[in-house]
Amino acid sequence: ILEVSDLDVTFGGTPVLHRIGFSMRRGERVAIVGQSGSGKSTAIGAILRLLPGSGRITHGSIVLGAGRTRGGVEDLATATEPVMRSIRGQRVGLVPQDPMSNLNPAMKIGPQVADALVASRRDLGAEGKLDRAEVKRRAVALLTEAGIPDAERRYGQYPHEFSGGMRQRVLIAIALAGEPELLIADEPTSALDVTVQRQILNHLQSLVDARGTSLLFITHDLGLAADRTDRIIVMSEGRIVEVGTPRQILLDPQEEYTKQLVAAAP
Ligand code: ATP
Ligand code: MG
Repeated sequence: ILEVSDLDVTFGGTPVLHRIGFSMRRGERVAIVGQSGSGKSTAIGAILRLLPGSGRITHGSIVLGAGRTRGGVEDLATATEPVMRSIRGQRVGLVPQDPMSNLNPAMKIGPQVADALVASRRDLGAEGKLDRAEVKRRAVALLTEAGIPDAERRYGQYPHEFSGGMRQRVLIAIALAGEPELLIADEPTSALDVTVQRQILNHLQSLVDARGTSLLFITHDLGLAADRTDRIIVMSEGRIVEVGTPRQILLDPQEEYTKQLVAAAP
């Protein structure tokens, strides 16, 4: 479902990613593990064409989706806006790192989910149009599915009325609104306490498993990654250091960096 080859990214001319390459099969769950600053979010930004500021892809290719119908092979230097939209809307959902800056503080929760739903259906044209009541019904269902109790009532509340954990669940509902084939979660719970983190990740896992969605899970926590994925990619300083199953990485790490990471894991 995803193939990244020889990807280089620079910020303001400074190299940040060096020849990143990995692929994911449909339904696979893959973790990218690395310290703060190792380039995890940058890799995701490149895949989603959402690199901030002066971030540029200077080399490599990204193939997203099967059948090459949408967002297929692209020359990254000439990627066009419609391709970007289909990448963002239909095939890939993102649960971002920071809930506060990814929800609109001035807009009620429910309509933010409803907007995501409508946006994801735009390329279905007239056929995909839903009436207002149906949009709301589906947005409430998404919030409920994401684990928000009493979603009907909370639909009309603002982000500041939600706890951190509940805001993260709203972002999960938004990410799932487009029925993505690939869900990318960028340290989705790192700001939360451990118990809530595990609850939310377990819930996310069950949603992904039930739908057969592929999961790319970004974290600095090797333990969280090992419990939840089929394969772990270890990153350091913009490079992939090692790739293996959780067993291989935890029990038989090959690289010095990975050994240190395993030794430091709780
Ligand atoms: P964290 O675990 O803290 O989220 P990360 O692995 O996601 O870290 P990135 O955010 O991808 O790391 O950062 C990788 C490198 O790219 C860092 O050296 C950082 O300084 C640089 N970088 C990231 N974003 C920008 C930006 N907008 N402008 C300039 N440099 C950036
Ligand atoms: Mg990051």
